[in-house]
Parts: sequence; structure tokens; C-alpha cells
Amino acid sequence: MKLTRLRIVGFKSFVDPSEIHIEPGLTGIVGPNGCGKSNLVEAVRWVMGESSHKSLRASGMDDVIFSGSGSRPSRNSAEVALVIDNSARRAPAQFNDADVLEVSRRIEREAGSVYKINGKDTRARDVQLLFADASTGAHSPAMVRQGQIGELISAKPRDRRKILEEAAGIAGLHSRRHEAELR
Ligand code: ATP
Ligand code: MG
Repeated sequence: MKLTRLRIVGFKSFVDPSEIHIEPGLTGIVGPNGCGKSNLVEAVRWVMGESSHKSLRASGMDDVIFSGSGSRPSRNSAEVALVIDNSARRAPAQFNDADVLEVSRRIEREAGSVYKINGKDTRARDVQLLFADASTGAHSPAMVRQGQIGELISAKPRDRRKILEEAAGIAGLHSRRHEAELR
């Protein structure tokens, strides 16, 4: 699965609709301090189903919505959409009938998030599993946060194992087994 486009509106500092084309190969984000580089990476993790506001540097999930700056008033919603090239058909069976998948997440103040895949309402869980299976999930080693290398070096063995399992692409299986055992 290749990420090809990212659309953002109202998420953190990205108040105006922005669209970013992700070209093949390595993508680097450069810019002065505070310009929104980390916010951009957080937008990707958020649409992949990140459920911890703390790991998005927010004190509640509504804090990811643009909170106003200078003369611009705050917003009441935020939306991020990620376009995926699925021509290799690596998505889970229920989404695997399309060459292009558009995953979106929208949040309204005090009303929580709604996820869609190709326009159809989808559970957060299914979005998380879609990316966990492709080893690109919000917690996968494909997404390296600022300060994460240091954390990895000082991690406890059990935490390091979790990271290796994500990298090996078996995190989705573990989480399905856990769900099956609860039933
Ligand atoms: P650095 O190089 O220091 O790591 P960066 O490019 O990663 O900087 P970010 O941390 O992505 O910068 O962006 C920080 C900016 O985003 C700050 O100016 C902050 O005010 C703004 N910001 C964060 N959340 C919101 C929000 N909900 N609404 C409006 N602006 C926000
Ligand atoms: Mg940063």
C-alpha cells in the first residue's frame, strides 16, 4: 500500500484546505521551527486511527481542531483524508475491491470522530487494522516521531518487542486474537 495524497482541513495549524502529493521514494518535510512539520505527521497518524490525544500533543481530542490564531477564529471541525494506492491489493478483504482507497477521519467539537473508507462509514477499529496489517499504522515503526529514536534505545525489552512485532506486520494478528479471546 502506497500513500499518495494527504488532504487536511482544520487540523491543528492547517486551517485552510491543504493537499500534499506524496511522491514515490523518501519524503522529507523541511521548514523553520513551529511551521507545522510535526502537525503534518500527526495528521497522518490521526487519520490512521490514533486514539491517544497525548501522543498527538493534545490535552483532549478536540484540541486537534484549529484553535484560532491572530485574526483567524477557531474552527469546529477538522478533517484529514489519506489516499492510498491499493493496486497491489494488500488491503483486508472487505476493502480490497478498489485500486484506490480514500480513508478519512472527521472530528466535530464535542461529538467525536467519524471514519470513512471510500465514502462509506467505517469503524475506527477497521481503519486501525487496515494500517496495522500493512505495517504502516499510527504506532508502527514506519512513522518515526521526534524523540522516538532516544525512546527506542532506552526502551524496556517488552516495549521493544512490540515495535519489532509491528515491523514484522503481525501486530494486526495479535490485536485480532485479543479481540477473539474477549468474545
Ligand atoms: P519544530 O521544528 O520545532 O519541531 P514543527 O515544524 O514540528 O516545529 P509543529 O509542532 O508541527 O512545528 O507546529 C507547532 C505550531 O502548531 C505552533 O505554532 C502551534 O501553535 C500550532 N498549533 C498546534 N495545535 C494547534 C491548534 N489546535 N490550532 C492552531 N494551531 C495549532
Ligand atoms: Mg516538530
